[in-house]
Amino acid sequence: MERYTGKKIYEGIAIGRIAWLGKKEQVVERKHIEDCEAEKKRYEEARNIAIDQLRALYEKTKKEIGEADAEIFDVHAMMLEDDGYNDQVNNIIDTQKMNAEYAVAVTGDNQAEVFASMEDEYFKARAVDVKDISERVIRILSGQSEASVDASEPSILVADDLTPSETVQLDKSKILAFVTRKGSSNSHTAILARTMNIPAVINVDVQEAWNGKRAILDSDKGLFIIDPDEETMKVYEGLLEEQNQKKKLLLELKGKPTETKSGKQVMLFANVGNLQDIASALQYDAGGIGLFRSEFIYLEKDTYPTEEEQFVIYRKAAELMGGKKVIIRTLDIGADKQCDYFELDHEENPAMGFRAIRICLKRPEVFKAQLRALFRAACYGNIHIMFPMITSMSEMSQIKKIVEEVKSELDNEGIPYKNAPLGVMIETPAAAIITDRLAKEVSFFSIGTNDLTQYTLAIDRQNAALEDFCDVHHEAVLRLIEMTVANAHKAGIWAGICGELAADTTLTEEFMRMGVDELSVAPPSVLKVRKAVRDCE
Ligand code: PEP
Ligand code: MG
Repeated sequence: MERYTGKKIYEGIAIGRIAWLGKKEQVVERKHIEDCEAEKKRYEEARNIAIDQLRALYEKTKKEIGEADAEIFDVHAMMLEDDGYNDQVNNIIDTQKMNAEYAVAVTGDNQAEVFASMEDEYFKARAVDVKDISERVIRILSGQSEASVDASEPSILVADDLTPSETVQLDKSKILAFVTRKGSSNSHTAILARTMNIPAVINVDVQEAWNGKRAILDSDKGLFIIDPDEETMKVYEGLLEEQNQKKKLLLELKGKPTETKSGKQVMLFANVGNLQDIASALQYDAGGIGLFRSEFIYLEKDTYPTEEEQFVIYRKAAELMGGKKVIIRTLDIGADKQCDYFELDHEENPAMGFRAIRICLKRPEVFKAQLRALFRAACYGNIHIMFPMITSMSEMSQIKKIVEEVKSELDNEGIPYKNAPLGVMIETPAAAIITDRLAKEVSFFSIGTNDLTQYTLAIDRQNAALEDFCDVHHEAVLRLIEMTVANAHKAGIWAGICGELAADTTLTEEFMRMGVDELSVAPPSVLKVRKAVRDCE
């Protein structure tokens, strides 16, 4: 029995034989050619076939998984249609008089290197996409077949790396889990694993020699066990059975109310970062969106998203949720979420630095563009707006002044908008302590326990070395939560929790006792929390 560790991408346990995803090493020959025009034509034909294949993959994925996940193949097709990519290939053929396979391989490597060197995690993850499309074109040029997995029974798929197109082309009925050496949490392969509800772990030191061996994947622990002994096997068979029972039971909770045995109703919402996550929130039966981290819209771009771009996204979010609350948090950039184009100065202590609402108040043009988009989108559903990192009443009055300016500008321009309820995130001790006063200014509170814990306990949430000191159930944090809820109720407004603690079911009973009105958690945790609430007296 051997044990290997890696990083969890999607939770769950799987037991089965290993199927190694055999990829023939693409050996690209470097050949001198005479007829550049003929070679460019050969490339052009292969490229068109690749684009047709990608369009077909888009349709297949859209049908089998959903439109949001299919979009990656549309992006791949667009990358192949991109002049920059094609000019580079044709230029290598023309100037170096080299064969098309070689020109495509060099272009793919060059562009992947550029993406991989970018700081932004989203762009870093695009390196695998550009390699994926280049490999596809080379395969077509050289008449090779695609990577295949040899599995007669449902298996744990093990590979060095998995491209998005390989992932969706796999026969889902044959895959129990994914284990790969490469990948990142932000890669589309990871996103697909989550959407497909398949346990997945990356960064494992995988070996081809494992092919056909029995194995256990314990994704929550990031543990991959090869050739388990009988005792370990028995333990995990028990756990797997438990997991299957739980999943079944949880699915039965879809459509059921989130209320305690004594009839206290709780709003159970989902945390999202983009429109794809909203599809997942709906799938898990979330009653609304409790936290839309709008900064992800900014993080995925290399320049400020325009008011119009934001309006389209917020409007879609409101429409998708069909009248249910969609609480959109305004830009929370800074600290661990850096955007180059904001050109923020280097700070010694960024978690306590120029971030979130502080940036918005100092750069009202950025803030106003977002607020305009939000108030306009509010016409299409039940949008609520909340502000992160508040510490003072003065910030609240500055925000309100800007909100009024935005509304009167929209009035003057004759642009339709709707008043959206405003709320505050309680994620600093300062805000929690003045909740009696803040409650008179807004319609709701949402407690951000991730930052509230960080600032209350003076423990950097990014610093893994402090894990032993971080008591996430610390009395001080729980008291601040209780105080926030009590002050909200005194002023007649509601208070929820959108930090990770909301999904901690060992605290659900305590939260119910405090009178918490709303819990907002990652989409796959919604039903688990519903069960915990329904188990409360
Ligand atoms: C929080 O701080 O608890 C929170 C929900 O915000 P984020 O995790 O995005 O900082
Ligand atoms: Mg926060």
